[in-house]
Amino acid sequence: MEFEGKSIAGSDLPALIDELRLRRRAIKAASKQSVKARVALTNAQRAHVLAKTDNRCHICGGVISESTWHADHVFPHSSGGAHSVDNYLPAHAVCNSYRWDYTPEDYQLILKLGVWLKGEILRETSTGKQAAEKFVKKQVSVAKRRRPSFGPEA
Ligand SMILES: [Zn+2]
Repeated sequence: MEFEGKSIAGSDLPALIDELRLRRRAIKAASKQSVKARVALTNAQRAHVLAKTDNRCHICGGVISESTWHADHVFPHSSGGAHSVDNYLPAHAVCNSYRWDYTPEDYQLILKLGVWLKGEILRETSTGKQAAEKFVKKQVSVAKRRRPSFGPEA
């Protein structure tokens, strides 16, 4: 595969993922001084944010029916994005918590890995079978640690 014009081998993937993590940290550190404290949205502001996407999560596209949805920063808060209604879109709590502060490069890589691994699982390859077992085990462990108010895993 290619990344930023360079050819990437499978053995390069851990270093690439680490490089993306370091870039994310650098962006976060550089913007720390300019980040203002978050102010809770009013009910009217939350209704306005939710109406922007016709009650759909801007990450997965699914309908938002629960009241625990997040007002997600379009321009990341950690990169200096404003705490303002103009910079918010609605997201499921689960979708938003998995997105973290990933850069678009991180997120695209994660999506590609996820789609590829889903195919491995569907074809029941040895990689897919092994990953499916470990994934389910991990989700059970995460669910046990999670606060009950967080809701079910998507
Ligand atoms: Zn979602």
